[in-house]
Amino acid sequence: MKVGLDHKVLVKYPFLKESQDLVRGHTESLDRFLSGNPGKSAVSRAKDRVENALSSKKQFDESDPGRLPPELEIASYAIARILISCTKERALIERFAQYEAERMFFYLQMEEPRIKRYVAQSAGTDPDASEVPVVKYIELAAQMRDDRWRLVNRDIVHGYVKVEAGEHDELLRECIRALIRQDLPLRVPAAICESLTPVTEQILTRFQERILEQFGEIDEGSFPPCIHALITAITAGTNLPHTGRFAITAFLHIIGMDTTTIVEIYSRAPDFDIEKTMYQVEHITGRGGTEYVPPSCATMRTYGLCTNRNKLCDTVSHPLTYYKIRKKRGKTPGESVTPPSH
Ligand code: SF4
Repeated sequence: MKVGLDHKVLVKYPFLKESQDLVRGHTESLDRFLSGNPGKSAVSRAKDRVENALSSKKQFDESDPGRLPPELEIASYAIARILISCTKERALIERFAQYEAERMFFYLQMEEPRIKRYVAQSAGTDPDASEVPVVKYIELAAQMRDDRWRLVNRDIVHGYVKVEAGEHDELLRECIRALIRQDLPLRVPAAICESLTPVTEQILTRFQERILEQFGEIDEGSFPPCIHALITAITAGTNLPHTGRFAITAFLHIIGMDTTTIVEIYSRAPDFDIEKTMYQVEHITGRGGTEYVPPSCATMRTYGLCTNRNKLCDTVSHPLTYYKIRKKRGKTPGESVTPPSH
């Protein structure tokens, strides 16, 4: 069905084909566009978009989905994708996709039903469906942390997963996030990334500051028991499964540890191989295209990596939450934590 969408609607959902067509009609080659004044305005707005994604306060303005003319506002979304791709920082890509999905979802809540339906269908979901094909469901639920989304907790009939009416919005937001995340990082020509270096460097500085604000200085004494157990296993020379290497590397990366320091942890192993370790760590932290998100407690349990649980573990569903709480409140008497082995 053809749905007429005016420019005010298009700026809110820049992933739509109609939005991209609008930009295509107004821009020349990318490098020429970026060097002109309209391009510079779009880059500046793109930088704001990425920095907003890093902010802890996500505030969306109902009356102001964009300050620039529609074609530049939409171009700023595309340029933001280019900027984060040039940084090659996986965590930044994930935050951007999450932020943009939340923003678009915020606007969708206020749309008339025909527009909401059209945007949902363009994102690949039916907002009224009572079931989702199992393959699609697995793809979407993979990023949803609540246990109720796990396939083992769902009703499956003839290859379809039953979905409650109250769950449609969560699935729609996840569909939009997955669509935004798709194809990132883009393969951006080196010359374009180079011309954007002053902006990407500012973004990366902000990103590092944000990690520091969020997790503070790294405190190994506040690591959850599962992560301590993995470090102990490395030190003892135990050959960790991929899931274990992934869990510890992704955890350390997200709390702000740089690649060299992560590799130093692996160097505690008696059979340490620097080249192999560098390759694996860089792959997991984003340079090779693997997801970066550390596993939740539920996934850690599935992997058999949830060990030495303590009282605090009963109150969290993610090792990162454990770390944040422990750092904030310090060690509680009676709560034993395996000390770091090194
Ligand atoms: S409950 Fe979570 S934080 Fe605690 S040991 Fe298990 S996986 Fe780690």
